[in-house]
Amino acid sequence: MADKLSKLHRSWLMSRVSGKNTKPELIARSLLHQLGYRFTVTGPKNKTLPGKPDIVLPKYKTAIFVHGCFWHRHANCKSASTPKTNTDYWLPKFERNVQRDRKNQHDLHNLGWQAIIIWECELKKLDTVAARLIAALPREPSYSLPEELDDITLVAESRERYGKREQKN
Ligand SMILES: [Zn+2]
Repeated sequence: MADKLSKLHRSWLMSRVSGKNTKPELIARSLLHQLGYRFTVTGPKNKTLPGKPDIVLPKYKTAIFVHGCFWHRHANCKSASTPKTNTDYWLPKFERNVQRDRKNQHDLHNLGWQAIIIWECELKKLDTVAARLIAALPREPSYSLPEELDDITLVAESRERYGKREQKN
């Protein structure tokens, strides 16, 4: 699956990840765009679906949330540490966030929608996110990724080899 992203795309995306003004949502959108998916970010569904999803793919009835690890309590993530002071303030706040996220996902499922969470820290490994998205959002058989240009290169090489073989004969 990692091969679905060409080296060029990957380095372009990674350069965006390390950019100072880059927001996780923008990276996720760039990735989806590069993978050839159509989505909305300010459409009616972005406002009316449970949890107001960051990204909506109407065709796939899929809502994507790009979650900050700290606020949304990414399990086993070092970015989701609990502040040492004011725990009486933080813990109920975190709990509310987690409960809200859970309810939104539940409500989306009841409406027949798929919910995908992209964690902020995951955007450091775009190949993994890409693989997860492709698995959750199956394409039509006719769809071909631009990366398949690599295959054309291979054909050109084999034709060259074929040509040499012809010369021998
Ligand atoms: Zn995380």
